[in-house]
Amino acid sequence: MQNATETFPGCLVLSTSKVYVLRIIGKEGEDPQRWLFEECSWTIDRLRRILQIPFKQGVLVELEQSNKTHDELNSTITFLCVLQDLQRTLNFLLYVTDILLLPICEKTELTVPEYYTSSMHHLLKNCKSYQDGDTVRQLALFSSGLLRYEDVEVQLKLSSLIITTSVLAICNMQWLLPGNKELPYIKREQAMSNLIGVEHCRSSLTLNFLDELIGQEETWVLNFVSVNAVEVVITSIRSPWEELFSVPLQDTVCKSQDIPIIAGRHFGYSKRDQHIWVKNFKLCSGKLQSPISLSSFKSVALPLPALEVIGYHDFLPNPLYLKNSGHSVVINVNNHLRKELPYIFGGSLDANQEYEIDHLHFHWGAKNNRGSEHILNGIRYPMEMHIVHRNKIYSNLSNASNYKNGLVVLGIFFQLQEEDNESLHSIVSDLMCVQGINRAIKLSSPITLASLLPKNIDIFYTYKGSLTTPPCNEVVTWIIFPTPVPISFTQLNKFRSLSNGKDMLADNFRKLQNIGLRKTYVRRLNPLLIAKYNGTIFNAENLDWFWH
Ligand SMILES: [Zn+2]
Repeated sequence: MQNATETFPGCLVLSTSKVYVLRIIGKEGEDPQRWLFEECSWTIDRLRRILQIPFKQGVLVELEQSNKTHDELNSTITFLCVLQDLQRTLNFLLYVTDILLLPICEKTELTVPEYYTSSMHHLLKNCKSYQDGDTVRQLALFSSGLLRYEDVEVQLKLSSLIITTSVLAICNMQWLLPGNKELPYIKREQAMSNLIGVEHCRSSLTLNFLDELIGQEETWVLNFVSVNAVEVVITSIRSPWEELFSVPLQDTVCKSQDIPIIAGRHFGYSKRDQHIWVKNFKLCSGKLQSPISLSSFKSVALPLPALEVIGYHDFLPNPLYLKNSGHSVVINVNNHLRKELPYIFGGSLDANQEYEIDHLHFHWGAKNNRGSEHILNGIRYPMEMHIVHRNKIYSNLSNASNYKNGLVVLGIFFQLQEEDNESLHSIVSDLMCVQGINRAIKLSSPITLASLLPKNIDIFYTYKGSLTTPPCNEVVTWIIFPTPVPISFTQLNKFRSLSNGKDMLADNFRKLQNIGLRKTYVRRLNPLLIAKYNGTIFNAENLDWFWH
């Protein structure tokens, strides 16, 4: 946790000379170099202090920033390290004080500072269900959560759960940081007597409440850092609850593992789920939706300019992360170094507009006869890749998603064959490391976009459509290549080994949308056509007539 702004899974490593903060990306495996990355490090003399947070939830580490000139207030950086269990916190503190890490020992506080107790006392007095003599039984930090009540869903980042004999309260986290003036305040509270059931699945805990007086149900889904942490929370709830009701507390294990709570949108691909996209995301019922069924007979053939692809033969800049988003597997092209990224122009795109790569992802089926989103001449391919490009005039994807000329997506079909496609090797071999939802890994070998394109990009279909996932913004110029790229059965099966948090991640394609009044175009260069259009080179200025 850095400056109360970011949370990530990681490790704190202390040596006699340095303090390291490492970030965990992807699935932990045998080779730490594949999942452990250095976030930052300091020499040990910059360590100001280490202190314990209440209920052995972890430690706070304060470090001096090297750049003091800027602003004296910002001269320290604080990491709140939520440890996996209480024993670990204890072991960590014992280690730093027992072992001769002298410079560190002097800066370690083994007792929990007094201001934590007074802060929590202040909080309790503000709880509606607080009863005299109530004391805090547990303070548990959780990394993210989702609260559902009165038809609203509230997403939470790192926050604290305070449990007393009569109250369960979700509070902010900032008050744990020393020097922070913020007192703990209650984001949501429930009386212990309203709790009707507890479910837990791995490190996620669901608390179900019913307020019988007003007939209101409420659910809290809290994601902790470890299974152990969840068990400690359940234990601290159990005894006051059982005392209240004189029956054992119902604790269901993995009854309903919802798609884990991630910051972002919820949507599913089952028939029923797709039906409710429209309800939750109004744009999905628009008139220019994607995907559609394309046909060579119904498309207008035009001698369009070629699609120019620039930088497609260069390796995408490192580090490249492969991520299982739960809806797809995504390769994000980040541009920390502000290098020029591969981009496209020409074709049916607005003249003078360049579109830069943002990310690419895939849609595939559970069976070989389905998977692609678009259909071409009645064929549904087993997989379709989307290379999403953003108009360079917009600074980022979400900004570009607000404008009609915001995005261009290249659609590439895959066709099964016996032999592996060597160009997919890098991606496919790393899929094994992102089987769980939200897993990410640094791609082990570099890739070029050119290696993922079909041999022939001279012919393409183009039409105006939308994102094929919620919120379905109608801002996409689609360019679909009819020539498929090969993929082997073994390779495709690796995609099917991914999980969406509940089931196999597959059949992640949207149902076909109406073409409506739209026209679809196909670039062809036969002499007859060229003669027909008198050698006219089409560009956006003279294409306006044909889009509508
Ligand atoms: Zn897509």
